[in-house]
Amino acid sequence: MNYFVFLVVYLLTADWHTIDFFKYVIGKKRGMSQVVKDQWIENLVKSKTGVQLTKITLAEIRAFGFMASSPPLKPSMTLSFEAYKNLSNGEKEWLILHEMGHYVLKHSLKELITQVVLISSGLLIIHLSLIDSFSALVLGILLGFLTLQLAKFHEHEASIFALNHMDDPIGMVKGVEALMRKWPKRSIMRRILYRWDFSMYERQKELAEREIIRREK
Ligand SMILES: [Zn+2]
Repeated sequence: MNYFVFLVVYLLTADWHTIDFFKYVIGKKRGMSQVVKDQWIENLVKSKTGVQLTKITLAEIRAFGFMASSPPLKPSMTLSFEAYKNLSNGEKEWLILHEMGHYVLKHSLKELITQVVLISSGLLIIHLSLIDSFSALVLGILLGFLTLQLAKFHEHEASIFALNHMDDPIGMVKGVEALMRKWPKRSIMRRILYRWDFSMYERQKELAEREIIRREK
């Protein structure tokens, strides 16, 4: 029973964004996805990161972009239809380099390993010390929260990666503004768990603005 409580609470805390994401994909626009070949994006990725991006999937997702894989696997980038159609080239440069930052820095692999280690540790603690259900619940929340901090750090790292590789950081300022306009309010769960929304985006904007000033000097 305690194992179950821990596992459910941990996964809900750590993976709410993924659950939220797939709920949206499955629930709303089932099957709405399309693979595109885009020479401009391929050239951008190749020249900035040295990586060959051969497949881009467009889908109805609750984000502008999503990177599912890490090396040694090939990059698997998903972009929302809306971002792909409506963002300017400068904004797209930011989005695509941000997603490539997740890939190059192996974020999904690191998050997977972290989750496996934390889940194993939690189950071991329960196994060894026979803690009660309430403690199992608290442990699930704590370790879940720890995982989120890593994800949050990865978002920051991917933004720095994008910024360092961009021709013009104004694309990042505009792109982040477009993101904030698109989702002015996120779910309560996201806001409580992540504090991820405006504070994080504001910080990304600030970084880009500082970089613009730095380059002007
Ligand atoms: Zn990201």
